[in-house]
Amino acid sequence: MKICIYRGTSEIGGNSVELATEKTRILLDIGTPLSSMEENLPLENYKTKCRGLYADETPDIDAIFITHNHPDHYGLLPLVNSKIPVYMSKTLHDILIKIQPLLPGDFDISHLNIHEISPNESVQIGDITVTARPVDHAPSAYAYEITDGKKRVVYTGDIRFHTNQSWKSWKLADTSNAPDYLIMEGTRLSRAETHEKHPTEESVCTAITNNLRNSNKLAWISLSSQNLDRLVSVIRACYASGRTFVIDPYTAALFDLFHDSFNTVPNTDMLSCVRIYYGMNEHIADKMKNANLFFTHADKKITKTEIAKNPEQFVIKYNWALSDWLNNNGLSDYDFIYSMWHGYLSRQKTWDEHKSHLIEIHTSGHADISDLQEFVRRINPKTIIPIHTECKNDFEFVFGVKTSVLSDNETASL
Ligand SMILES: [Zn+2]
Repeated sequence: MKICIYRGTSEIGGNSVELATEKTRILLDIGTPLSSMEENLPLENYKTKCRGLYADETPDIDAIFITHNHPDHYGLLPLVNSKIPVYMSKTLHDILIKIQPLLPGDFDISHLNIHEISPNESVQIGDITVTARPVDHAPSAYAYEITDGKKRVVYTGDIRFHTNQSWKSWKLADTSNAPDYLIMEGTRLSRAETHEKHPTEESVCTAITNNLRNSNKLAWISLSSQNLDRLVSVIRACYASGRTFVIDPYTAALFDLFHDSFNTVPNTDMLSCVRIYYGMNEHIADKMKNANLFFTHADKKITKTEIAKNPEQFVIKYNWALSDWLNNNGLSDYDFIYSMWHGYLSRQKTWDEHKSHLIEIHTSGHADISDLQEFVRRINPKTIIPIHTECKNDFEFVFGVKTSVLSDNETASL
């Protein structure tokens, strides 16, 4: 087999890895770089040099496998040639077809030939076999195990070991043990990030609960609606503190989708501590109305005057319009629980006006160094290939395993 990493050898995000035999070419992830979130350029600007992938070419890729629901792993999908089969989990398929088109931008993958792949299912593509291995990182995130019968490769995608899903990541080490090559993410090797052990998701839930219990103020919370683990933590904290969680219709739609995917997740109707505030970005609201996803839980509607009467009873998913209204109506004292990546705080001006109220409670989507070291010890690869990292040259020393350091667009034999 040969490998070519088109993007991701020297940056966090934008992953795209080709594995090829003489007969077969597959791609693992086709992400957009993280910088694209701020640049707002047309998607074409982020095409990789992979040939035979895009709509305006003769297709020459036999299949694409996507690991999870973050654009730095799937963002180029709208440009892919419709004749190339694309494999992903059911949850990711549902998110990309039903939810992603609601967001700003023109994300449209309705032309694609998408196949759902179940946990631990194997798919034969030419002379390459690909097996989906569930990992802890995001809802239904996969690593992939790939073999041509001679060499065996494991690609972690993004991975962590500190939620109640961590058993999946450890199971990857046991079921895919001793691969010839481990293509492994190293997000947290960056020097500023190395020193701390990440809190568990359970401790995040406890910290949110304690903050809600010990305060008599309205609480805002900023979190990603696609972060299912965090949504569950906030809801558990609401039950434990007697508060009501006010979400938007977009978050309600995601809850319903997660309920369809995982029988352990209740839908919005089942959650007695959840109400919905229907004032939101008009552009998204219009798209939701067209998709019949907007007023799906009308009996859970809450108004801003209802919130203003007893603000201390609520935790509200951050909504700038509602925040402005409450501020202008005398509710300028509140707690603001910031529950996303710390880096956005300085990059996005939205948070500046809330700085004096901020309480940061979060844990990372990525493994800390000590967990990655333990993972490497357990999976025991012959060679590591770094990806999704700014520190590829540190891998061999940090993990004590022979490391093959590649550059973007360099082809190497495995
Ligand atoms: Zn990710």
